[in-house]
Amino acid sequence: MKSAAFDLYQPADVPGALQLLANPDQSVKVLGGGQSLGPMLNLRLAQPEVLVNVARLPEMLTAKMEGDSLIMGAGVTHARIEDGLVPDVTRGLMPFVASSIAYRAIRNRGTIGGSLAHADPAADWVNTMMLLGAVMQITSVKSAGDGALVQREVPAHVFMQGPFTTVLADHEILTAIRIPALSASARWGYYKFCRKTGEFAEAIGGVLSDPERGIHRLLIGATDGVPLVIHEAQALMKPGDSAAITRVLQDAGMAQDPYAFKMHHTAVCRAIAMRHQQA
Ligand SMILES: Cc1cc2nc3c(=O)[nH]c(=O)nc-3n(C[C@H](O)[C@H](O)[C@H](O)COP(=O)(O)OP(=O)(O)OC[C@H]3O[C@@H](n4cnc5c(N)ncnc54)[C@H](O)[C@@H]3O)c2cc1C
Repeated sequence: MKSAAFDLYQPADVPGALQLLANPDQSVKVLGGGQSLGPMLNLRLAQPEVLVNVARLPEMLTAKMEGDSLIMGAGVTHARIEDGLVPDVTRGLMPFVASSIAYRAIRNRGTIGGSLAHADPAADWVNTMMLLGAVMQITSVKSAGDGALVQREVPAHVFMQGPFTTVLADHEILTAIRIPALSASARWGYYKFCRKTGEFAEAIGGVLSDPERGIHRLLIGATDGVPLVIHEAQALMKPGDSAAITRVLQDAGMAQDPYAFKMHHTAVCRAIAMRHQQA
């Protein structure tokens, strides 16, 4: 199937893109790398009258330090993160994760912002940003004709409200992600199960310990909804303590389906083992 007809706009900057989105008379959608939206258009699951391409807006392609955080433009592609073409403040976690997203052709075009805005529970950035405690920077204009920009910041765990659902309104753009820099002593583990290389995960396990910043997080991802993040998870991070992870999954109501339980249990245990290999 082919997409319904639409007009494609390539604005020069974020204010130009926002002016197009603020038009209430048209159904408008933001276009990132098109790697999720393209198939949705072709299947006619989305039929916007206008697409506004934000993937090449200069403001959204930068990655710069601000205090102890990296402000990563939402238009940065998975491939640029994989290739180390943007600074890494996560001690290798983000390049590692990027390298396992889909295939290189998809990584060349898919953007971190598009992935987060799409909010697939199995998407790697959705899970990684929650593990890292990242914050979404969202920009809009006050009203059409009024050029004043409005910015708000939303933590990753609030940004995603459910499968394929975020707090983003139609007139807003996810412009950047604030990623806190990990300390030198921070350690992480990230493990995902896919049936075949390049496919979405069936289960994701993640752990992050950054004692200098008081962070000990455990993540269970690629679930039916928003990824589960457990804070103060020091006691759960002992390698080989699989009973503790069983209890976590039972408490979260994730033990009913034996297949899903086993996948998530193993993914988390392997992430813990990976974190300890770094010690
Ligand atoms: C075969 C295949 C395998 C894949 N495997 C994986 C995988 O293993 N792991 C993984 O994480 N992902 C995977 N993906 C998804 C891929 O990472 C996409 O790149 C990503 O989900 C969407 O990013 P995009 O930039 O292409 O966004 P688009 O497809 O352009 O947009 C997706 C949605 O986000 C909105 N949007 C885009 N950018 C913004 C923005 N800046 N602000 C507001 N809204 C925005 C669009 O309107 C649309 O609703 C796979 C995709 C395919 C086709």
